[in-house]
Amino acid sequence: TETVHVIGGGLAGSEAAWQLAKAGVPVTLHEMRPERQTDAHKTDGLAELVCSNSFRSDDFEANAVGLLHEEMRRSGSIVMASADAHKLPAGGALAVDRDGFSAAVTEALETHRLVQIERGEIAGLPPEAWRSVIVATGPLTSEPLAKAIDALTGEEELAFFDAIAPIVHFESIDMDVCWRQSRYDKVGPGGTGADYINCPLDKAQYDAFIAALLAGEKTEFKDFEKTPYFEGCLPIEVMAERGADTLRYGPLKPVGLTNAHRPDEKPYAVIQLRQDNALGTLWNMVGFQTKLKYAEQVRVFRMIPGLENAEFARLGGLHRNTFLNSPVLLDGSLRLKARPSLRFAGQVTGVEGYVESAAIGLIAGRFAAAEWLGRAVTPPPPTTALGALLAHITGGHLSVESESGSRSFQPMNVNFGLFPPVTVPRQPKTKEPRADGRRQTKALARKNAMSARALADLESWL
Ligand code: FAD
Repeated sequence: TETVHVIGGGLAGSEAAWQLAKAGVPVTLHEMRPERQTDAHKTDGLAELVCSNSFRSDDFEANAVGLLHEEMRRSGSIVMASADAHKLPAGGALAVDRDGFSAAVTEALETHRLVQIERGEIAGLPPEAWRSVIVATGPLTSEPLAKAIDALTGEEELAFFDAIAPIVHFESIDMDVCWRQSRYDKVGPGGTGADYINCPLDKAQYDAFIAALLAGEKTEFKDFEKTPYFEGCLPIEVMAERGADTLRYGPLKPVGLTNAHRPDEKPYAVIQLRQDNALGTLWNMVGFQTKLKYAEQVRVFRMIPGLENAEFARLGGLHRNTFLNSPVLLDGSLRLKARPSLRFAGQVTGVEGYVESAAIGLIAGRFAAAEWLGRAVTPPPPTTALGALLAHITGGHLSVESESGSRSFQPMNVNFGLFPPVTVPRQPKTKEPRADGRRQTKALARKNAMSARALADLESWL
């Protein structure tokens, strides 16, 4: 009989197959392990967690990933049901027994009458005769399939590495120190001449910043990641190692910019942030891909004038990661525009993390089921965590070309910066406000409001 084919039995593929079966659609799940392993997986279980055993915060009222957990639970997720069943004590986080978790997902799928599991690599594009396919082969997609996808999508549209620059929440940037201006006030396509946020450094601040970059603790590459750097995306600390002035003549050059707050003072160096989403709530630090450890990034980047209280939606990194330029390549229901019988799910679509990967699997499975059954394919509302994440990969992200001409779409965890703004009623003043107590209360109220709106809107979608 004809079935939907899901390639990859990881977090996303397992969830997609489950959602299909649950909707009454027969599905074949193809998993190459144990016949062929990746460089990170160690078992032959479905939904293997390759590194940490944490699904991060489980607080659905104040944390976007916690909200995503809750939305997935309400959507009948096998990943969440198995995680809850194999939960370990971890404070406010959802940590799981990795073997129990993987075994539970595997058993649920193996025993479902509509699911057939086939072990073996799909070593190239799937046959044209397969009417509906979900590709969920993850950040370590096997090479023959990655090459075939690369050829189908056109060069440069499939990345094999992510060079992640940190992303800052706009509201945490001190605009009394920073100012908006494009270099030489240049007005690009769709721009205004004030497209960047600029942070000024004087000589002492620059020298201290470079010293901190050099001294900061870094993560080492894993063996399989040892690939020569591309000159276009060198880690910021590697550039700093090349000489004290390298950054000042590179991404931190102060030319073509005038400090709006102190027009008479010429900055010694300038750090620029570029708008990262259409809402203007998230800004990425231009040229700041890095192997600094996360805690070090927060400490060192808060030395930058204007970013002393920066809240990071994502920290920087550089990893082996196969992912599509999804905003360009995929349609609103995750289908490859060039070949709509292929739908993509998981980390390969440009989300980041176990939960996010599974969430996109959940959405892709539901889309494929609706299509198979001849029903309307309706995306989750953009006010939900599921919808906000989907919008990030299928169009919400601003596809701005960087100065070097490289594309700017990079994988991302779910966060409240991806959600449309919400208005929060004024908060009553507390008697003893902490130093930053008022801001925190307001931010928390906004998260609570976004979460309540999300869960209400999810109900109507379900
Ligand atoms: P996967 O879970 O990797 O599933 C893809 C599956 O497809 C695999 O089972 C693979 O064997 C199979 N496959 C690949 N190619 C083929 C083929 N051609 N034919 C058939 N099957 C194929 N996220 C976190 O939240 N926390 C972490 O600690 C974390 N650590 C990570 C560490 C590493 C080294 C990597 C690479 C990623 C990490 N991630 C982490 C990111 C990400 O969340 C996980 O990789 C997650 O497993 C992605 O889910 P997925 O379903 O997209 O891919």
